[in-house]
Amino acid sequence: MDYLKTITVPTPFPVGPVNCYLVEGDELTLIDTGPIDPPTLESLRDQLRARRIEFKDFKRLIITHAHVDHFGLAAQIVAASGARVYSHPRNRWWLTDYDNEWNSRHEFFLELFAASGAPRALAEALAQGRKNFARYGASIPAENFFPLDEGDTLALNGDRWNVLCCPGHASGLIVLYESKSRELLSNDHLLLNISSNPVIEAPARGETARPRMLVDYLASFEKTARVDVRIARTGHGAPIHDTRALIAARIAFHRARLDRIEQEIGNGAATVFEMVQRIFPRLKPNDLFLALSEIIGHLDILELDGRIQFEEQAGIKKYSPTRAIQPV
Ligand SMILES: [Zn+2]
Repeated sequence: MDYLKTITVPTPFPVGPVNCYLVEGDELTLIDTGPIDPPTLESLRDQLRARRIEFKDFKRLIITHAHVDHFGLAAQIVAASGARVYSHPRNRWWLTDYDNEWNSRHEFFLELFAASGAPRALAEALAQGRKNFARYGASIPAENFFPLDEGDTLALNGDRWNVLCCPGHASGLIVLYESKSRELLSNDHLLLNISSNPVIEAPARGETARPRMLVDYLASFEKTARVDVRIARTGHGAPIHDTRALIAARIAFHRARLDRIEQEIGNGAATVFEMVQRIFPRLKPNDLFLALSEIIGHLDILELDGRIQFEEQAGIKKYSPTRAIQPV
């Protein structure tokens, strides 16, 4: 839609710049914001000013998922404008009680990293690394939060956009679809050049189990493969013109990786950490969390499919195959 203007701002993260979408018209709206970081703020302000827009002018923000590169600056825009912030109900506490969300996850991550077989000092550094992300975001007032869920519609410049829940990269991830133009705002659910990570999450408030991110992600792929999409505008990088081909490639990638991990377990990689070392031998330290998320996502599926089992020994999960696998 020509009323959707892409505003690309830099981030301090390895993923690079993030795409935000501006909707002018009756209700000035910004979809995603970029993180709290001076170059991001400056770039966003400059690009808006070129269109004679200030933060105070916004009526509405839509947050596609609760990752700081997508919502960090929401607090500052809301402070200036009083804008309403729409997002999935699972993102309520991230958006309105931000510091507590990070703090309450610290123990979960520490235990998870220790159970993965990472050395204690590394597990602690990793958990601290998660917490350090807190500086890139902040809370909005609770009364500014409005939930958006599956089946809801949003009016953008008079058109009806459907909300679809696509958990996987984040548990509260929504995409927006407009059926006349067949446009999808896919954010990080579908990215052209990156197989988006099934980022591990702690149990949400009121829940006891962590979500199985890759299980959900594959279901979300199947869901969006059924949607007739002409163009998907993404959260990072260029738009996608053939979403079905891209989804098929992503699913094939994960199926192959499931086989690879099962094979590595057959070869004797017993812990998540050992699997990370075999599958990502040249990993940079900053990417370790994403690598753990990737492996744990696949282990969840292998376990559900009955292909592997685990037992806990001294707080560390040790995996083994349930069927005979030829070591290679
Ligand atoms: Zn992102």
